[in-house]
Amino acid sequence: MKRVKLVVANWKMYLSVHEASLLTNRLDKVIKVHRDVEVVLAPNYLCLQPLSVEIDRRKFRLAAQDGFYIDDGAYTGAVSLSQMRDLVHYAIIGHSERRRYFHESFDEVRDKVAAAVRNDITPILCLGETKEERAQKETKQVLHDQIVTALSNLTSEDAENLVLAYEPVWAVGASEPASPDTIAAAVDWIRYQVRELYGQKTEASMRVLYGGSDEPEYVSGIMAIDGVDGLLVGRASLNYESFNDIVTAVHLAALSETND
Ligand code: PEP
Repeated sequence: MKRVKLVVANWKMYLSVHEASLLTNRLDKVIKVHRDVEVVLAPNYLCLQPLSVEIDRRKFRLAAQDGFYIDDGAYTGAVSLSQMRDLVHYAIIGHSERRRYFHESFDEVRDKVAAAVRNDITPILCLGETKEERAQKETKQVLHDQIVTALSNLTSEDAENLVLAYEPVWAVGASEPASPDTIAAAVDWIRYQVRELYGQKTEASMRVLYGGSDEPEYVSGIMAIDGVDGLLVGRASLNYESFNDIVTAVHLAALSETND
């Protein structure tokens, strides 16, 4: 099945509102509209409203980097997925930095995925093992547990639109991405888990991304891996030239698939 490619820029806790607007402006000048690639910007919460007005919607969509699962109430400091429903198409959920620094549990991730779906926001669910878990040969078990808990409140129809991002924790913020063999094995396993839970049709329509030290020179190799539909990009998305090179490389990968 042909799935539209997806490239997500995770700007993390970088960029003021003004800087985010400048970067969006620069990206707008260099990035072309590609019908086979969806480009998603994930700035901090403060930028979502202004960027939702500024972006060219033929080129860009917005994602939240997180979001609280209760729709409204006395939760000082929180921003709910429900409050962002008119601003974003996507929400990154369960990023390893949230799990690590904010002690986000499996149950919270599950509730955030369900809240996103309830509010018509597509979750980009991050999955991945730590260095220690890999060394202990626990990668498969970790991915299995992350998938089964996070999706436990979803129907197969909900799950079809979901995006899963394989982000081995040890490759995020590192000097190079995981090797193609490592990515291929994890993506195969992730797709197998989804087939086991929801069947072939859901798995075939679900997009799976890779994230972790994606720089332009690695993109064609990663996109050639069976079952990989795009990238979740951290640092390289803060530079408009690198990010444009990544989007272009993903577009070329989509084109070569069409010509196969
Ligand atoms: C990320 O944090 O999602 C990520 C992929 O970061 P980086 O590209 O900087 O490794």
